[in-house]
Parts: sequence; C-alpha cells; structure tokens
Amino acid sequence: MKIKISFSVFFVFLFFVAQSQDLKSARYCVNELTSKKYKGRGYVKDGSNRAASFLFNEFLKYSTAKPYFQSFSFPVNTFPGKMKVVINGNKLVPGKDYIIGTACPASNGEFKIFKIDRNNYNDITTDLRNCFVLFDTLGCNGAIDKEYIKRFQLANTTAGYINIEEKKLTWSVNSVQKFPSIYILRNALPSQASKIKIQVDAKLITYTAKNIVGVIEGHQPDSFIFITAHYDHLGMMGNKTMFPGGNDNASGTSMLLNLMQYFSLPNNKPPYTVVFISFAAEEAGLLGSEYYVNHPTKDLKKIKFLLNLDLMGTGDDGIMVVNGSVYEKEFSELEKINADQHLLKTIGKRGKAQNSDHYYFTEKGVPSFFLYTTGGRTAYHDIYDDGPGLPLTKFKEVFTLIRMFIKQID
Ligand SMILES: [Zn+2]
Repeated sequence: MKIKISFSVFFVFLFFVAQSQDLKSARYCVNELTSKKYKGRGYVKDGSNRAASFLFNEFLKYSTAKPYFQSFSFPVNTFPGKMKVVINGNKLVPGKDYIIGTACPASNGEFKIFKIDRNNYNDITTDLRNCFVLFDTLGCNGAIDKEYIKRFQLANTTAGYINIEEKKLTWSVNSVQKFPSIYILRNALPSQASKIKIQVDAKLITYTAKNIVGVIEGHQPDSFIFITAHYDHLGMMGNKTMFPGGNDNASGTSMLLNLMQYFSLPNNKPPYTVVFISFAAEEAGLLGSEYYVNHPTKDLKKIKFLLNLDLMGTGDDGIMVVNGSVYEKEFSELEKINADQHLLKTIGKRGKAQNSDHYYFTEKGVPSFFLYTTGGRTAYHDIYDDGPGLPLTKFKEVFTLIRMFIKQID
C-alpha cells in the first residue's frame, strides 16, 4: 500500500513536471509582464514603456528584420500617489473593497454621506455641496438607473459620488477628469454609512506610448499575415494597488511571442511574411491599433489575414472567434483543424465587435479574427487577474490551432 502511494505520487509529480516544462515559455512572459516592475503596464512610473522595452528585446531575438517602435501620445487620467477611503472610521481596501472612478480628479477631505434610495430619489432638496452622494438602487425597481444618475450629476454640485456594486469591481482607463467618484462592493460598505474621509491623488497627463513591430519573413514576402496582441493594462490605482493584467493581456502577448519564436525556426518558415505587433493603449480605447491603421508601416491591402489575441489564459470551454460569422471560409478552416487535432471543446463565433485591436483593421477591410479563450477563471479588469495564478488551461492547444491555421493560409 505504501509503495503504491509513493508510485502514484511519483507519477503525479512527473505529470506536473512535464506540464510545467511545456508551459515554461508561456509562463515566462506572463510572469514577467505581471511582475511589480511593470506597474500593471499603465501610465504610472512609466509601466507601459518599461514593458515595451522588455518586449522589444524579446522581438530582437526572433524578428528577421530589426523590430521598431511606433510612438503616439494621448491624455490619460492616472492615480500615482495616495489612495485612501475611510467610511464611518472603517478603512477600505483599494481594489478589494472599492475602485476609484476612472474620471476621478484629486480629492481630499472629510464629507457627510447623503444617501439617495427608493425612499427619497424623487424629492431631493438638501444642499449637497459638501456631501458625497451615495446611490443605493436596492428595491427601487430601476428608478435610480444610469439615466437618473447622469441627470442628477448634471443638475447638482456635490463633493463626490459613491456607487454600490453588487457582485464585482471592474476597473478601466479614462482620458478625462470629471468629479470624485468611487465604486464600493455592497458587502464592504458599512451599514448606515454617514461619513467619508478621502485622500486620492490623481493626475491627468499626456503619455507617449509605443507599439512594437517585428517581422518574420515568409516564403512569399509580398503578402502579410498579421498577428497582434495588446500588452498594456490598467496600471496602478494609487501607489500600492496594481492591476496585473495576467489574462488581459500578458497571456495574448505570450502567445504572440511563442508564435514568433516558432516561426523564426528555419523549418517553420511561414507561407507569407508574418508581421507581429504588440499594441499599446488598448485599454485606453484601442488607441495603439487605431494609430497603426492610420499610420500603417505595411500596405493594409496586402494583409491576407489578421489574428488578434486577447485573453488567452483559460479555455475550459474553448475559444470565441469575433468576426467568425463574417469570414465563414476561414472559420470553417479553424473548425476543421480543431476537429482533426482534437484541441478545444468548442469554437464559438460572433459577428463584428469593437472590443479589441482587430476592430479598426476590420473597418478598413482587412480580413481578421479576434480570438479569446472562454470558461474557467473569471478575473477581469480587477486585482485578481494575476500572472502566476493564471491557469493557461488550453494555451498549448490554442497555440497549435493558430500555427496550423497560419500554415494553411493561401
Ligand atoms: Zn484586453
């Protein structure tokens, strides 16, 4: 009995060694980009450009022509310093209990909390200039909806706003400052919240970010296959809270690098020249890819196909293909490879969507897919989307699917 257990433990151990070695190169990039030194690849402490330097060096290893940067500038609201919210004497934990409104300016002071709920939403006469207004939509039958809140904010001057999130905090990036606002999880909000102390540093800056472009020459160098993935994420919410962006999109960046490495081997020379682009500022509104499409370094008309990779970290349910129902022929080729190779549970398809960096290419008539994995871990735009904990469940299978798809493009 004892020997049996040791044997099975040994085989389980071997299994994990084999697994981790297979995913070693995938993990390398994911763990690197989600580490503290890149500050969540946003705009505090130059996180985005630090990641660009790392990626440029990776591109140098594989690109058959010298990789290059493409720079562009844009306004972005940042939270580089203090991030403190105390309600009724309870200090809330940033990222876990609350997120700051993306358009929040610097805010500092102690304020009364004035609650608007189902009992009073129709009849507010209080002077709110020194209050944080808390909207509680519970039991109001939709009366305090987004439209109500928008109208209220236009009509009133307050010290700021508190919104309650029922389930999950999902952060983002903004290019403007409006008024102080925070989003608190209901279970983190003290009952009878009456007083808020807030200390938030915010700075609206102009940031110059960089796309990184690399190339692997193919058998027919006059037509192109594009592989793209954004490497930026949301950055820092205050000087201590980082949004690591493991799935979004260290995972896609890792997939791109792994494909680049694969196609750089002499035996794997692709049918057409493959252009690899790591886009910046996707989270700020697809800015890197929009800039590239307006300042292309290759003739967009000569792109045979573009694959954009974002959220490559799970795959328990398979993948989803944006534009899958637009480019039917290519979609059925993906399905065929998947069926022959027994790779993924399902390959879903959808129509056009403005949800990642393929979008502006599609609008210019470039045939393209955006692939993302589905199922499994649901962390998204939050502090839990880390790198080391990312399962990379079907990373190898998606890798196989993509490399085989690229090889058969004619
Ligand atoms: Zn993303």
